[in-house]
Amino acid sequence: MECIFCKIINGDIPSYTVYEDDVVKAFLDINPTTNGNLLIVPKKHYENIIDIDLTTLNHINKVAKKLYSLLKEKLHIDGLTLIQNNGLGQEIKHYHLHLTPRYVDDNIKHSFNKDLLIDIKDVYQKLTSE
Ligand code: AMP
Ligand code: ZN
Repeated sequence: MECIFCKIINGDIPSYTVYEDDVVKAFLDINPTTNGNLLIVPKKHYENIIDIDLTTLNHINKVAKKLYSLLKEKLHIDGLTLIQNNGLGQEIKHYHLHLTPRYVDDNIKHSFNKDLLIDIKDVYQKLTSE
């Protein structure tokens, strides 16, 4: 079994786990963007949002709500951004939800290539045509 998150779930690799139940484990990201950066990971291996079932997804969201309260209480965060990568941008192919705390002055910025953008009407047409 090669999956690093399966190894963390099985206890073969250590983690800074802050919450755990029958369905998920939530631990600190070892390469944080901000203090308190957490990952919520289902114990069962699903690759992405297409594979995972809705009951598990719902549970992950419930845990995200709980952990937002924890982060506010203990780290006094100013906001929380949820990120979940699929395909390009997904380094670890075991479904996980990133909880990225925001702090005033954290200076997080998203950079992207605006040159790739086409007219919004053309995008709409592509998405809605049969
Ligand atoms: P993604 O690019 O969405 O697949 O994100 C994978 C995340 O897992 C990255 O933010 C990594 O820093 C994090 N990560 C990788 N290995 C570990 C580990 N052993 N413990 C905690 N977080 C990890
Ligand atoms: Zn896995």
